[in-house]
Amino acid sequence: MTAPASETPLLFVTGGVVSSLGKGISAASLAAILEARGLSVTMMKLDPYLNVDPGTMSPFQHGEVYVTDDGAETDLDLGHYERFVNTRLSGLNSITTGKIYEAVIRKERHGDYLGGTVQVIPHVTDQIKRCIDAATRGYDVGIVEIGGTVGDIESLPFLEAIRQLRIERGPGRAMFMHLTLVPFIKAAGELKTKPTQHSVKELRGIGIQPDVLMCRSEHPLPEGERRKIALFTNVPEKAVISAIDLDNIHKIPRWLHAQGLDQLVVEQLGLGGKARQVDLSEWDAVVDAAEHPQDEVTIAVVGKYVDHKDAYKSVGEALKHGGLRQRTRVNLKWLEAENIERDGAAALLTGVDGVLVPGGFGDRGFDGKVLTSKYARETGLPYFGICYGMQAAVVDMARHVVGLMDANSTENDRGTAHPVIGLITEWRTQTGEIEQRSEGSDLGGTMRLGLQEQRIKPGTLAHRLYGKDVVGERHRHRYEFNNRYRVQMEEAGLVISAKSMDDLLVEMIELPQDAHPWFLACQAHPEFLSTPRSGHPLFIGFIRAARERKAGKSSLPETRTHESLRI
Ligand code: GLN
Repeated sequence: MTAPASETPLLFVTGGVVSSLGKGISAASLAAILEARGLSVTMMKLDPYLNVDPGTMSPFQHGEVYVTDDGAETDLDLGHYERFVNTRLSGLNSITTGKIYEAVIRKERHGDYLGGTVQVIPHVTDQIKRCIDAATRGYDVGIVEIGGTVGDIESLPFLEAIRQLRIERGPGRAMFMHLTLVPFIKAAGELKTKPTQHSVKELRGIGIQPDVLMCRSEHPLPEGERRKIALFTNVPEKAVISAIDLDNIHKIPRWLHAQGLDQLVVEQLGLGGKARQVDLSEWDAVVDAAEHPQDEVTIAVVGKYVDHKDAYKSVGEALKHGGLRQRTRVNLKWLEAENIERDGAAALLTGVDGVLVPGGFGDRGFDGKVLTSKYARETGLPYFGICYGMQAAVVDMARHVVGLMDANSTENDRGTAHPVIGLITEWRTQTGEIEQRSEGSDLGGTMRLGLQEQRIKPGTLAHRLYGKDVVGERHRHRYEFNNRYRVQMEEAGLVISAKSMDDLLVEMIELPQDAHPWFLACQAHPEFLSTPRSGHPLFIGFIRAARERKAGKSSLPETRTHESLRI
């Protein structure tokens, strides 16, 4: 028996004409306005590809893999959602065709369909509807984004499922918003509405009549065009919303509210009794801080997918959030780690105010990351290492301070004489410690994923920034600091500033403040918990250190360079 369907009102977001119209950000901005009207909002993404999740997809193709508290590896749109609304999401909120088919086939093998012929309609569509129900239950409203573009073969089962949901629930409990492009043709000096008309026609061909159209264009939609689109698409004029290219995504909630989008949704979904007057003051403050900076810094990000910045989406956003909290514009300089190997760190990092080495996999460019850490450590440049960036810093210190020149992560050199970073299973036999780890920890070569708590050492930079003894951060990695090297590394000056709650895994490292103004690295991914409204303490601290560096207030203390900590 399946539970009865929840009655959470739903808004479905589809896209037409071309991809990359910013469906995720538009949906998230609408969610932000509804939240600013006092409603509890959740969001979900239905992705039509066959991968079960994006965890195994190349960042070149798919951008960043976004990790939720429960350790689900999800689409980067979930990052937009969590940055725009306060609701914390989980694996339930990210569904793919692969995940749906996996569940359906499992049931078929289990005999759950009682010998019936298993078909796209109703079995696949029912499974989609169950997933939507499970993710949105208990909220005032659920916003469900369908990935891809109308007309794609693979999105058809999702569109069919939402068509059915609308019939089952009625127009007062489910509505459709369609995002299209209204291109500006320079030669004619006109906005063209035909692609939008065609896209809606296509949607209607599969039984979906949009209630709201969001028209992306370079210029605001003139009244004549709005009327024409309304007439041809059967959408009320006031529900044809103009979505122009804004220079700052945080302006979108205010822009959409000004056109009455949230009111349309509140009225159609019968949320009037719960919704209050909108309060967008937090978003106004975010925009104001971005538009009136009092300072600016340049931060280098040294990675291996830098031509494809979506691969580091949350890192870029979190750096900017860190700046917003102190009215500082953060200019990002994306650097290829391999270029550091080729040209040297000094050539590429001179003039920046801080450097961040983000997460990554594989050996390409790893030595460039190690050299980045060395350069920052020796010159007093603020260094922020995240995940692979922490592992690079550990390898740097092992090689260049302790003198273990062939130190490495076993990810890059399985036979290294000094595996300062390795799989737990590779070094546990030497310490015996790991046997004590509590149930539920993943001990094998698989990922440590999701939110885990860690204990921060009082008196450290990390403790000062967080202002707490225990914090939770999201993880996504296989390799760990090798405890066999703890003592040696600590004697060389490394401070272990946080450990897992059972005291066995290194979570954060830093250099003492009298040796370096700001050198901190963490095994988890704090960028996933940064939001424009609050920022993240580590990013805020890092940007502050970059400002101080720029203002000349901090440089490497002369009396005690890190080199002098060598034992
Ligand atoms: N490749 C490293 C590991 O698996 C780091 C992963 C990451 O940076 N997310 O441990």
